[in-house]
Amino acid sequence: MSISSHLAEVKQAIAECEKEAGREDGSVSLIAVSKTFDADTVEKVLKVGQRVFGENKVQEAKGKWPQLREKYDDVELHLIGPLQSNKAKDAVALFDVIHTIDRKKIARAIRVEMEKQSKELGLFIQINTGAEPQKAGILPDDADDFISFCQVELGLGIRGLMCIPPFDEDPKPHFKLLRKIAKRNDIRELSMGMSSDFREAIKQGATYVRVGSAIFGDRKKKLA
Ligand SMILES: *Cc1c(COP(=O)(O)O)cnc(C)c1O
Repeated sequence: MSISSHLAEVKQAIAECEKEAGREDGSVSLIAVSKTFDADTVEKVLKVGQRVFGENKVQEAKGKWPQLREKYDDVELHLIGPLQSNKAKDAVALFDVIHTIDRKKIARAIRVEMEKQSKELGLFIQINTGAEPQKAGILPDDADDFISFCQVELGLGIRGLMCIPPFDEDPKPHFKLLRKIAKRNDIRELSMGMSSDFREAIKQGATYVRVGSAIFGDRKKKLA
């Protein structure tokens, strides 16, 4: 099957899940995760109207998106992978939304760059809902303090929270936890759900789902 029919299937599934969950039509945004796929492949999805994309590496995005944006100027590009503070400048220049604010140093660096570049990005804080030592993100117990640090001390608008549940666990309690943290902090957007679990994520209130392989196919031997 073609990439464009995969995309159509995913969009259909999202619409069905919105309906089943009693949610408004179009309340869930699809981020097509194009990491590891080259510009020609990505363009197949652009050609059929998809405009919201996710990449997990600043360097890789720098290699393909500036050219694609020249042709498709209404693209919205989301950074969904970990960010180093020495890449903050490039990240702010390249992306519209960052999902992975996960420490004070990064929050400060993003703020400085947004000011320098006079560019306002949509910002999400990544929460390590499974408290996994190897995974990025703020621990659930530290979330309220960190959110208020960003909002009050740095004056950053926080649009949403993001999580990646442990791969070998039922994602449902993780989605519920993310939603709970967002709710008590008055944060509207939830970035949760990937190819394998976006249906459940929509049931639990996701407003952005990040779907890669269900659209583009298997990344298999490709790195990252
Ligand atoms: C790669 C990636 C995705 C997409 O994963 P699929 O299983 O291919 O849908 C979503 N979120 C993040 C943070 C990713 O790195």
